[in-house]
Amino acid sequence: MLLNVGDLSAEDLFDYCIIGTGPAGITCALSLAKNGTRVVLLEGGEREYTERSQNLYRGQIVGDPYFPLDELRLRYFGGTSNHWGGLCRTLDAFDFEAKGAFQDTKWPIAKDDLDPYFQPAADILEIPDLPGDQPIVGSGFNHIHFLQSPPVLFAEKFGERLEADAGIFLLFDANVTSLETNGESITGAQIVDSDGNRRRVQAGRYILATGGIENNRLLLWSNIQTNGQVVKAGNTLGKYWTEHPTFTLGEAILNGDFPSVSRELSTAFFAPTPDTIIKEGILNCGLFVNLVPHEGAKKIIADVACVAPDLGKWALNQLGKRLICVVQIRAAWEQEPRAVNRIELSDERDALGIPRPRLHWQKGETDLRTPQITARRFGEYMARSKIGRLRLNPWVLGEGDMPGDDNYGGFPYFGHHIGGTRMAASAEHGVVDSNCKVFGQTNLYIAGSSVFASGGHANPTLTIVQLALRLVDHLRATN
Ligand SMILES: Cc1cc2nc3c(=O)[nH]c(=O)nc-3n(C[C@H](O)[C@H](O)[C@H](O)COP(=O)(O)OP(=O)(O)OC[C@H]3O[C@@H](n4cnc5c(N)ncnc54)[C@H](O)[C@@H]3O)c2cc1C
Repeated sequence: MLLNVGDLSAEDLFDYCIIGTGPAGITCALSLAKNGTRVVLLEGGEREYTERSQNLYRGQIVGDPYFPLDELRLRYFGGTSNHWGGLCRTLDAFDFEAKGAFQDTKWPIAKDDLDPYFQPAADILEIPDLPGDQPIVGSGFNHIHFLQSPPVLFAEKFGERLEADAGIFLLFDANVTSLETNGESITGAQIVDSDGNRRRVQAGRYILATGGIENNRLLLWSNIQTNGQVVKAGNTLGKYWTEHPTFTLGEAILNGDFPSVSRELSTAFFAPTPDTIIKEGILNCGLFVNLVPHEGAKKIIADVACVAPDLGKWALNQLGKRLICVVQIRAAWEQEPRAVNRIELSDERDALGIPRPRLHWQKGETDLRTPQITARRFGEYMARSKIGRLRLNPWVLGEGDMPGDDNYGGFPYFGHHIGGTRMAASAEHGVVDSNCKVFGQTNLYIAGSSVFASGGHANPTLTIVQLALRLVDHLRATN
């Protein structure tokens, strides 16, 4: 049912307080509100987009060029799912391990721990079963798959159900400003609406699901308010933040049929095998081989014809025939989790008086090597197998800097905010344990990609939903 902030009284006590209505928060709320369980679901934004709420998402960026923080995320009912792309893939089993020298990619859980939640998550996201990856013999690469959600817009799909559920108390314009603690448990969440009504929400357990930047920001701010008592061993809080850098690596002219690229399916996906990753000392990297439409193809062929006239002539002949001959190669890859990439609080405050976030984000040496090595090995495989010729962009060949932005091929797949409250085996290395419970608190849990210890190359939302469903099972089992 719908409530206003002003409707809440000091006597109201809920079983669960969930903060945020993106995929993570809505998944938790719908699964928990059963058999008389009372769930209060707090959304800081309104039912629809408003400038007032979105403005609270502004923040500073230090380091490499990045999108303004209030452009990628959406602060209203349904969260960023209101404009996500719907591309889904699970993390690889290998993503949960330490990858060679990169010990910080290790999670305290394995893919097996999330597998039971694939089907329920797939039902929520309306995706079919994921075909297995196929090794391409002798290449060092797998042909991999992504699934396409319609995309499910969480507020649109689940809004009516949330409002009709007698166990769910849904509030819009309920901005959580900080969490209170007695040092061992969370004792309340402070909220305020845009008219200045303030309340303290009390529940047995709290789930923070405000997205991969705000989860960090709220905890950092709550720690300041409580003298470090919310995340007590807070040395990793906000740190080891990663994205999936997504850039065009180059274009390829194909001599004939290329595995799995067809006119019907205009994109095919590939990734280096775990053996290649370890051998090359890189991290995980998804390659997108995109069919280039006729007009774009002509220009690329003209460029290639300058250096390879015969191939250019052949390719021009193929245009318009059944053969697919020009593709663009893009990559989205895993960044090395490093403490220097972090969310911290800036000196500037938002309209609610909370310090705005400052994102420090810089691609390191491994973050450059991963796409460079992956692209070169893929190009070598193409040449060896005589299936085509790959022309790599200068930065991929080590000449010059990466482009500040990368508009070729449309909107980059940025918006994957990973880490900062990472899952770890001990409080020394992370913020939450393997059940997503904050170390040192009896009743505070985190849902969302901020708990990922590392991010592989897969888009995060399927894993977010799997983790949320697993969290709900844990909460039910320990009630
Ligand atoms: C352009 C774009 C395209 C994307 N495409 C894909 C894709 O194809 N595949 C994929 O897997 N992922 C994609 N993503 C990422 C995906 O959108 C996120 O992984 C997902 O939305 C995260 O869910 P969440 O519930 O953790 O956070 P969010 O969806 O960000 O929800 C957070 C919620 O918390 C609320 N909130 C914030 N602060 C407060 C507060 N103080 N008090 C109360 N409420 C608060 C917000 O209003 C919001 O409702 C994309 C992202 C972008 C930006």
